[in-house]
Amino acid sequence: MSEVPTGRLIEAVASRVIAAADELTVLDRQTGDGDHGTNMRLGCEALLAQLEQLAARPLPDALRAVGNILQMKVGGASGPLFATLFVNLGKGLAHDPEQLPGQGPESLALALQGAVAAVARLGKSEPGCKTMLDVLVPVQRLLEAGLAASESAADLAARIEAAAADAAEATGAMKATRGRAAYLGDASIGPVDPGARSVQIMVAAVCGVLREA
Ligand code: ADP
Ligand code: MG
Repeated sequence: MSEVPTGRLIEAVASRVIAAADELTVLDRQTGDGDHGTNMRLGCEALLAQLEQLAARPLPDALRAVGNILQMKVGGASGPLFATLFVNLGKGLAHDPEQLPGQGPESLALALQGAVAAVARLGKSEPGCKTMLDVLVPVQRLLEAGLAASESAADLAARIEAAAADAAEATGAMKATRGRAAYLGDASIGPVDPGARSVQIMVAAVCGVLREA
């Protein structure tokens, strides 16, 4: 992997989320207020509208800009959480702008660790609460371990994509203790968490692009 294809990554993430917006709405109707698909669609349409400008920036800057756009466009609890994720990912990578995936694995793993920790702090949440963190945390850990073991980018991307799908699915059996779904108590058990599904879709999009890079 010689170069991070910033534009392709953002385009893939945004278009996959937009394609899944109706499914996200259905999930959020079951355990929340039914706005998650619309929230995410609005944010991702704004990303696509600014794709050219975003793609022209170095990856850390582009990620921070993505976070700022999501902060403005995605409503609900998830907007500030996704904004925090991307802004902190950009900030983490900016500490060492020369290091890109494949060249500076530690910086990528550290940046994601910091970004996921920032989401957990903002949400006062942790894995097991039936939220987006139930996908973010295992993905972060797999990335850290895979990069430390010098696993090939293609193998690691495939493994992370599969693990993210399992992790999202596993939120179905969880009882929500954070976010709107927590008001439902035991009745929140069953459906997959919409934010967890959004993260999984984003991860699958990124892994798809990286496997081809
Ligand atoms: P809202 O719940 O305000 O309507 P959304 O429907 O857009 O916002 O997003 C809901 C998703 O946000 C949930 O499925 C969950 O993944 C995530 N979420 C909500 N609250 C928290 C929290 N405290 N910590 C982590 N994630 C959260
Ligand atoms: Mg909602």
